[in-house]
Amino acid sequence: MQKSKIQWTDYTWNPVWGCLGGCNYCYARGIAKRFAKPIAEREATLNKRKNIFEDVARFTPTMLDHRLFAEFPKKPSRVFVNSMSDPAFWNRTIRRAVLDRIHFNESHSFQMLTKFPQILEFDYYPPNLCFGTSCENQESADMRIPALLERPAALHFVSFEPLTGHVNLKTEWTEKIKWVIIGGMSGTKATPMRMEWAESLIEECEMFNIQVFFKSWGKYVPIENLTVKERNAIMLKPPKITGEYCYNASEQVSYEHVRGFEYRNFPK
Ligand code: SF4
Repeated sequence: MQKSKIQWTDYTWNPVWGCLGGCNYCYARGIAKRFAKPIAEREATLNKRKNIFEDVARFTPTMLDHRLFAEFPKKPSRVFVNSMSDPAFWNRTIRRAVLDRIHFNESHSFQMLTKFPQILEFDYYPPNLCFGTSCENQESADMRIPALLERPAALHFVSFEPLTGHVNLKTEWTEKIKWVIIGGMSGTKATPMRMEWAESLIEECEMFNIQVFFKSWGKYVPIENLTVKERNAIMLKPPKITGEYCYNASEQVSYEHVRGFEYRNFPK
């Protein structure tokens, strides 16, 4: 198991590869294409599984036993379950196997995200499972959050990453949501996350005592958000101004704050 580069977790655990979600922009599909061969070969050699290459290459949800039974760290940690798949498309056997591993490793806190809580129902929810959904805007929040909150998980969270529009948290959600992650879009097709979207969401979370983890602005940062030091850095090495508020973040400084404040909180 490898240390994760994702700031809100310690480790990423991918016992399943492949997804039937069919989303237009799927980061996992691109990675799976590049690594299908070595992953399948490793599994075939270690566990003598035939035909695994076709399943992995087709991106159908496939359990990788060598990952499923990977050793977890000794120190209690946060473990993000599956960046390469959405649990909504796992069959019963996969769900059971993954949940059992979670349950029997109770010193760790497992963070699991789905974009399809409406169709994802587990037989049971281990107490160390943090169950979340990813939403981009109000429309997806209205559809996914109520379905998420119907599931009897010990802890519910929402990842607004990337946040692509203004979102209002409905009062009836706020008692159950314990944690919110906010982040902007990155990559070549990125669009900016506006200052007011991030600020109003943080304000709402604070009002309802929901912990916030602000990951980063992504590719574009509102100019009004910059500190004096960051503005000076821009003066020395001008980035591309792409609009009234945003410019192309060029990795010169870290853009993980909102008007100078960092929000790196975890659920209690
Ligand atoms: S749900 Fe996630 S893993 Fe599945 S296709 Fe969509 S983006 Fe990819």
